[in-house]
Amino acid sequence: MKDAIKQTLNEFHLRHTSCREEVLDSFFSANYALGHHDIEEGLKDNFDRVTIYRTLKTFVDKGILHKVLDDEGGLKYALCREACAHNHHRHDHVHFKCEQCGQTTCLETTHIPAVELPFGYSRRETNLLIQGVCPLCNK
Ligand SMILES: [Zn+2]
Ligand SMILES: [Zn+2]
Ligand SMILES: [Zn+2]
Repeated sequence: MKDAIKQTLNEFHLRHTSCREEVLDSFFSANYALGHHDIEEGLKDNFDRVTIYRTLKTFVDKGILHKVLDDEGGLKYALCREACAHNHHRHDHVHFKCEQCGQTTCLETTHIPAVELPFGYSRRETNLLIQGVCPLCNK
Protein backbone atom coordinates (compact mmCIF):
# COMPACT_ATOMS: atom_id res chain seq x y z
CA MET A 1 0.00 0.00 0.00
CA LYS A 2 2.76 2.44 0.98
CA ASP A 3 4.49 1.75 -2.32
CA ALA A 4 1.39 2.80 -4.23
CA ILE A 5 1.33 6.10 -2.34
CA LYS A 6 5.01 6.85 -3.01
CA GLN A 7 4.55 5.84 -6.63
CA THR A 8 1.56 8.15 -7.06
CA LEU A 9 3.38 11.14 -5.56
CA ASN A 10 6.39 10.46 -7.79
CA GLU A 11 4.25 10.00 -10.85
CA PHE A 12 2.65 13.42 -10.35
CA HIS A 13 5.95 15.06 -9.39
CA LEU A 14 4.74 15.96 -5.91
CA ARG A 15 6.99 16.42 -2.93
CA HIS A 16 6.43 13.77 -0.27
CA THR A 17 4.94 15.30 2.86
CA SER A 18 3.40 13.35 5.70
CA CYS A 19 0.05 15.07 5.12
CA ARG A 20 -0.01 14.12 1.42
CA GLU A 21 0.99 10.54 2.23
CA GLU A 22 -1.63 10.15 4.94
CA VAL A 23 -4.43 11.70 2.91
CA LEU A 24 -3.62 9.43 -0.03
CA ASP A 25 -3.49 6.46 2.32
CA SER A 26 -7.07 7.22 3.42
CA PHE A 27 -8.25 7.24 -0.17
CA PHE A 28 -6.43 4.05 -1.09
CA SER A 29 -7.87 2.29 1.96
CA ALA A 30 -11.46 3.40 1.36
CA ASN A 31 -13.20 2.49 -1.87
CA TYR A 32 -15.76 5.25 -1.53
CA ALA A 33 -15.73 9.04 -1.57
CA LEU A 34 -14.49 10.89 1.51
CA GLY A 35 -15.61 14.23 2.90
CA HIS A 36 -13.46 16.68 4.88
CA HIS A 37 -14.66 15.23 8.15
CA ASP A 38 -13.88 11.61 7.13
CA ILE A 39 -10.42 12.65 5.99
CA GLU A 40 -9.62 14.53 9.20
CA GLU A 41 -10.80 11.61 11.30
CA GLY A 42 -8.68 9.12 9.39
CA LEU A 43 -5.38 10.96 9.80
CA LYS A 44 -2.93 9.72 12.40
CA ASP A 45 -1.18 13.06 12.87
CA ASN A 46 -2.92 16.31 13.54
CA PHE A 47 -2.73 18.58 10.57
CA ASP A 48 -4.50 21.89 10.58
CA ARG A 49 -7.49 22.35 8.31
CA VAL A 50 -5.61 24.66 5.95
CA THR A 51 -2.90 22.06 5.33
CA ILE A 52 -5.52 19.40 4.62
CA TYR A 53 -7.45 21.78 2.39
CA ARG A 54 -4.32 22.65 0.41
CA THR A 55 -3.42 18.98 0.06
CA LEU A 56 -6.88 18.20 -1.35
CA LYS A 57 -6.70 21.14 -3.73
CA THR A 58 -3.29 20.02 -5.01
CA PHE A 59 -4.61 16.50 -5.57
CA VAL A 60 -7.64 17.82 -7.48
CA ASP A 61 -5.50 20.19 -9.58
CA LYS A 62 -3.09 17.37 -10.42
CA GLY A 63 -5.86 14.93 -11.25
CA ILE A 64 -5.33 12.46 -8.44
CA LEU A 65 -8.75 13.17 -6.93
CA HIS A 66 -12.00 14.52 -8.31
CA LYS A 67 -14.80 16.28 -6.50
CA VAL A 68 -18.03 14.49 -5.75
CA LEU A 69 -21.06 16.59 -4.94
CA ASP A 70 -22.98 15.28 -2.00
CA ASP A 71 -26.61 15.77 -1.11
CA GLU A 72 -27.04 18.34 1.70
CA GLY A 73 -24.73 20.61 -0.30
CA GLY A 74 -21.55 18.97 0.94
CA LEU A 75 -18.46 18.10 -1.02
CA LYS A 76 -16.58 14.83 -1.11
CA TYR A 77 -13.53 13.59 -2.99
CA ALA A 78 -12.78 10.34 -4.79
CA LEU A 79 -9.72 8.86 -6.47
CA CYS A 80 -9.41 9.29 -10.22
CA ARG A 81 -9.22 5.85 -11.76
CA GLU A 82 -7.90 4.54 -15.05
CA ALA A 83 -10.35 6.63 -17.07
CA CYS A 84 -8.38 9.75 -16.12
CA ALA A 85 -5.13 10.20 -17.96
CA HIS A 86 -2.87 12.97 -16.67
CA ASN A 87 -4.13 15.60 -19.04
CA HIS A 88 -7.49 14.17 -19.94
CA HIS A 89 -10.02 13.75 -17.19
CA ARG A 90 -13.27 11.92 -17.64
CA HIS A 91 -15.69 12.30 -14.79
CA ASP A 92 -18.85 11.67 -16.70
CA HIS A 93 -19.72 8.79 -14.42
CA VAL A 94 -22.60 8.61 -11.99
CA HIS A 95 -22.10 8.81 -8.23
CA PHE A 96 -24.28 6.74 -5.96
CA LYS A 97 -25.05 7.59 -2.36
CA CYS A 98 -26.39 4.87 -0.10
CA GLU A 99 -29.01 6.14 2.30
CA GLN A 100 -28.24 3.37 4.77
CA CYS A 101 -24.45 3.33 5.15
CA GLY A 102 -23.99 6.89 3.91
CA GLN A 103 -21.20 5.92 1.51
CA THR A 104 -20.88 7.57 -1.88
CA THR A 105 -19.32 5.46 -4.62
CA CYS A 106 -18.07 6.19 -8.14
CA LEU A 107 -20.00 4.09 -10.65
CA GLU A 108 -17.16 4.24 -13.18
CA THR A 109 -18.94 2.32 -15.89
CA THR A 110 -22.27 4.12 -15.56
CA HIS A 111 -22.03 7.22 -17.70
CA ILE A 112 -24.14 10.32 -17.39
CA PRO A 113 -26.36 10.51 -20.47
CA ALA A 114 -25.89 13.49 -22.77
CA VAL A 115 -28.08 16.40 -21.75
CA GLU A 116 -28.98 19.12 -24.25
CA LEU A 117 -28.72 22.63 -22.90
CA PRO A 118 -30.77 25.58 -24.15
CA PHE A 119 -29.03 28.10 -26.39
CA GLY A 120 -26.54 30.35 -24.60
CA TYR A 121 -25.59 27.95 -21.82
CA SER A 122 -22.13 26.42 -21.85
CA ARG A 123 -21.28 23.39 -19.78
CA ARG A 124 -18.22 23.19 -17.55
CA GLU A 125 -19.02 20.03 -15.65
CA THR A 126 -21.94 17.72 -15.06
CA ASN A 127 -22.74 15.93 -11.83
CA LEU A 128 -25.25 13.22 -11.25
CA LEU A 129 -25.87 11.81 -7.79
CA ILE A 130 -28.23 8.89 -7.43
CA GLN A 131 -29.46 8.06 -3.95
CA GLY A 132 -30.73 4.70 -2.85
CA VAL A 133 -29.41 1.49 -1.28
CA CYS A 134 -26.03 -0.06 -2.16
CA PRO A 135 -25.48 -3.80 -2.83
CA LEU A 136 -23.94 -4.40 0.61
CA CYS A 137 -26.92 -2.85 2.42
CA ASN A 138 -29.35 -4.49 0.00
CA LYS A 139 -28.43 -8.01 1.17
ZN1 LIG B 1 -9.87 12.70 -12.88
ZN1 LIG C 1 -24.90 0.98 1.83
ZN1 LIG D 1 -16.30 9.62 -9.25
